[in-house]
Amino acid sequence: MVQKGALDYTRKLSIGKILAKMRVMVYGSKDGRATALAELKDAEDGDPFKILIGTILSHRTRDENTTRAVEKLFAKYKDVEELAKAPESDVRERIRPAGFYNVKARNVIRVARQLIDEFGGVVPRRMEDLLRLHSVGRKTANCVLVYGFNEPAIPVDTHVHRISNRLALVDTKTPEQTEMELIKGVPKAYWLELNDLFVRFGQTTCKPIGPRCEVCSLTGICRYYKEVVYPKRMNKRKR
Ligand code: SF4
Repeated sequence: MVQKGALDYTRKLSIGKILAKMRVMVYGSKDGRATALAELKDAEDGDPFKILIGTILSHRTRDENTTRAVEKLFAKYKDVEELAKAPESDVRERIRPAGFYNVKARNVIRVARQLIDEFGGVVPRRMEDLLRLHSVGRKTANCVLVYGFNEPAIPVDTHVHRISNRLALVDTKTPEQTEMELIKGVPKAYWLELNDLFVRFGQTTCKPIGPRCEVCSLTGICRYYKEVVYPKRMNKRKR
């Protein structure tokens, strides 16, 4: 499954085994919690409209902030028609916990109006249609497919991008490149769970700064551990 150009540390372990080890770490972790989108999916029965708006609100903020903003917004505006008519100032106040609330308020109202004008008030389930929506890029569109429609897709956020590169599943510079490489290398059977599992793993173990390699069972196949973490530890010991 290792991509051309990627280092071949993973040859010893199939993607299925890597994910199995990750599951044990994530679900066995005391601080493991559902991601904002997984929570939203459960709370709203996978309503694609709410997943779409929730994903837009989740940009560049922490999960707990997304959850608070989503709850306040949907407490008043229950569907696409209500949000399309909502006063921007009220939306802004409700989504304030998510940060960037000026631009996000404008974006979610504009998306609601666009859904009514161009898609009969229904969230489309084709990638090319989702990408026509204002402020929707591949990550958001893929989240809607996975969490809203249960369609196999790979949303690549900062966690998925970082962890895939650390483990040498890919060797890429951008999330878009990572998505394309993962699509080529990961069997479709794993796509639906991949985003949620990697995000949780990134929040609990393979953190952006200070990954908890001491409790990780993937050190033996991890490029980042071999090339960065382990040499640093050896250097410290020598001092
Ligand atoms: S060994 Fe460290 S860097 Fe590698 S996947 Fe585990 S936590 Fe992340």
